[in-house]
Amino acid sequence: MKDCIFCKIIAGEIPSAKAYEDDDILIIADINPQAARHYLMMPKKHYSDITDMGAADPAALGKMFEKLASLTDKLGLGNGFRIVSNKGEDGCQSVNHLHIHILGGEKLSEKMG
Ligand code: AMP
Ligand code: ZN
Repeated sequence: MKDCIFCKIIAGEIPSAKAYEDDDILIIADINPQAARHYLMMPKKHYSDITDMGAADPAALGKMFEKLASLTDKLGLGNGFRIVSNKGEDGCQSVNHLHIHILGGEKLSEKMG
């Protein structure tokens, strides 16, 4: 999608630190990490947020989590992690291309909000 920063990253027009890539999924390091390890997992196809993809293609959304389960050790997340996907204004979503934050690599705060 035009003017979508993550579509530009997926297209290779903007550089990123790629941790995993296949035909459907990209995982990059967040540019402003909020934990020792902070990744963004996103579908290559543009969806505006998690409910958009969940409604349109729940099987593909499930496959992303299946893939994540197979990658946790490689990503340095073997001791656990937290996933967050912000949606909309109250969720403070700032990039309108679905992305799932994966935070770990250290003991995280118990506070989430
Ligand atoms: P959200 O606020 O949930 O929409 O999250 C957007 C995330 O994208 C933030 O954590 C940003 O640090 C991250 N981000 C923005 N631009 C880039 C970029 N070019 N490369 C990697 N991460 C980015
Ligand atoms: Zn996009």
